[in-house]
Parts: sequence; C-alpha cells; structure tokens
Amino acid sequence: MTKRVLVSGITGQDGGYLAEYLLEQGYEVIGMVRRTSTINFERIQHIQDKICIVQGDLLDQVSLIDILREHRPDEVYNLAAQSFVPTSFKQPVLTGEFTALGVTRMLEAIRIVNPQIRFYQASSSEMFGKVQQVPQTEKTPFYPRSPYGVAKLYGHWITVNYRESYNMFTVSGILFNHESPRRGLEFVTHKVTYHAAKIALGLADKLPLGNLDSQRDWGWAPDYVRAMHLMLQQDHPEDYVIATGRTHSVRRLCEVAFGCVDLDWQRYVYVNPNDLRPADVDLLIGDASKARKVLGWEPSVTFEEMIERMVQADLAALKKAHHL
Ligand code: NDP
Ligand code: GDP
Repeated sequence: MTKRVLVSGITGQDGGYLAEYLLEQGYEVIGMVRRTSTINFERIQHIQDKICIVQGDLLDQVSLIDILREHRPDEVYNLAAQSFVPTSFKQPVLTGEFTALGVTRMLEAIRIVNPQIRFYQASSSEMFGKVQQVPQTEKTPFYPRSPYGVAKLYGHWITVNYRESYNMFTVSGILFNHESPRRGLEFVTHKVTYHAAKIALGLADKLPLGNLDSQRDWGWAPDYVRAMHLMLQQDHPEDYVIATGRTHSVRRLCEVAFGCVDLDWQRYVYVNPNDLRPADVDLLIGDASKARKVLGWEPSVTFEEMIERMVQADLAALKKAHHL
C-alpha cells in the first residue's frame, strides 16, 4: 500500500524539498496551502502535478479535521509557521496563533480523526536562545529570546505532551538553521548571497545588515528534510537535534559569499540599526550525535559549498531576470 503524507507549509523552503524527497520515496503527497489572492507555488511548481494540493489553515481547526478525514494520511509533517524572527517581534500575537497554537490545532485534529497518524513538528534551535550549554543537545535547557522562539517552545512541549498523554507517535525535530537557494530572501544567508550576486553584476552597491557578530550553525536544507522523514520511521517517537556541529559568524558568511564573486565584503556591507533585533541569539552550535547514532543521519554539504551554490543560483536568476 502506498503511504500517504500530509505536509503543512508545502509552499515554504522545507515543504518543497520534503515533498520532492517523499515523492522519490514513493509516497503520495498531500500539500496543505492557505488561500491567497495570488498563487505562490514557485518552490513546488516543478512537482505540482504530482502533489494533491488542499486548502487549509493552521488558524482554522475545522479545515484541519476535514483534510485528515478526507485524505487519511499515515504521516503529518507540520512545517507551517510564521517563521521569521523579526516579524515575530512586530506581530507577536499572530506568531503565537500560527507557530504555537497552530500545533495544538493540528494535534487535536489528529487525536480526533486518527491518533495512529505519525506526527512531525518543525521545532527550532531558536528555542535554545541565550544558550545554557555549548554545544546544544536534546537535553540542553531552553531559553528563547524572541516571540518566535517562545512560540516554537510551546509547539515543542505540546508535541511532547500529546506523546505522553495520549501515547501518540509525535516527534519534535530541533533543527538548526538550514538554507538553500529557496530560502526566503529576508533570512541573512540568502540576503547576503543575493546582494553579493547583485553587486557583482553591477545591480546594487550596498548591503545593509544587522548584528555581524552573531553565530549560527548553518546546514543544507535538503539534508535536513531527510532527517525529518527518518524520525518518523523509527520504532519509538523521540526528539532529535539536527545540526552540522560547526558555527560561523555573519561576518564570516559575508567574507565567504563575497569571496565567491571575488569582492571584498567590507567595501559594501554596513550596519543598519533597523536590522538589529530587540534581543538576539548570539551563538548556536548543535550536537547531532544522537541523530548520527540512531538515525544514521549525516550532513552532506559544507557551509562553504552551500554558500557557493546559493551565490551561483542567485547569479543565474539575476542574469535571467535582467537579460544579462
Ligand atoms: P518558510 O517560512 O519558508 O515556510 C513557512 C510555510 O508555512 C509556508 O508554506 C507558509 O505558507 C506556511 N504557513 C504560514 N502560516 C500558515 C497558516 N496559518 N496556515 C497554513 N500555512 C501557513 O519556512 P521553512 O520552510 O524555512 O521552515 C519550515 C518550518 O521549519 C517552519 O515551521 C520553521 O519555523 C521551522 N524551522 C525552520 C528552520 C530553517 O532554518 N529553515 C530551522 C528550524 C525550524 P505561505 O507560502 O502561504 O506563506
Ligand atoms: P534566525 O536564526 O532564524 O533568526 O535566522 P536569520 O537568518 O534571520 O538570522 C540569523 C542571524 O543573523 C541573527 O542573529 C540576526 O540578527 C543576524 N543578522 C544580521 N544581519 C541580518 C539581516 O540583515 N537580516 C537577518 N535576517 N538577520 C541578520
């Protein structure tokens, strides 16, 4: 029997990669999208005819129940969220509705319709925030530093709670930052690679950034969606940290990205106070030993290779758009 999965957030960076991966594994993929006046399927255009698109919203409990009743998935990957930290400071209540309570709505829908469905929650290293331990593991205490981090922490604990209360197969993947050419342009990696490409082509001459000192453990997004799938194939539901174990500063990111186009980043980058956050996460570095041991998961792309791929993809897209 073909296994069926429901992916919320399928139009996002991870949704597209996960859908591709699951199709390759022989799954039938149902992608949940919210209604918008213009279609935003860029990241799934190439596989759109292979996916069953259904309308639903994490704010709307009935829509989730209806989707599960009609499509009867075996696994649900809850990737939908308001995922950008600065927006969470501007819209903290909405972020809580999507990113925190949305998880409970999905879990309730599963509990009501079919508690045998396996559930993956997209948790985040932002939950570690002001880190209490270096590197961070599944056992590191949490200390979120933004409304986004706080909302994700709620999503994490409610996932654990449904596992313990109702004996459901629910797992929380604590994923560190992961990037790709499909990453939203407002995130720092893509902002930097895109501007490096633009400046190299003579289409821009400055790049405003915020905190250059903050450090992140950046991995390659397609590697991370493999880990999500692996977590749901185990005998027991458990939570896992997914990370590369290497960290780099935003300053180093600039050096690598501009280096790909033979430019000196220091000539173009300046600090814009508007890009600073009310509170930031200074350092993230994950220890994915458990995932390596239990899941057999390994990252396959280095930070430098990933940034090179992103710069090359941005160069190609900009040349095409500007007929260069
Ligand atoms: P994106 O921001 O690219 O995608 C978010 C997705 O959620 C989009 O498809 C968006 O739809 C959808 N969405 C938002 N609100 C709702 C809603 N109310 N109802 C239904 N769908 C909604 O995120 P990523 O792909 O990068 O990340 C996937 C998940 O993993 C997110 O939960 C994120 O917080 C989490 N995460 C990501 C990390 C990363 O480094 N990428 C690290 C750790 C966790 P639309 O297109 O309509 O906006
Ligand atoms: P996050 O870890 O989910 O917040 O991912 P981001 O890519 O948005 O930010 C990573 C880090 O880069 C944070 O510490 C930011 O403060 C820092 N940063 C510095 N300048 C910028 C910027 O211009 N945009 C963004 N998004 N982040 C920036």
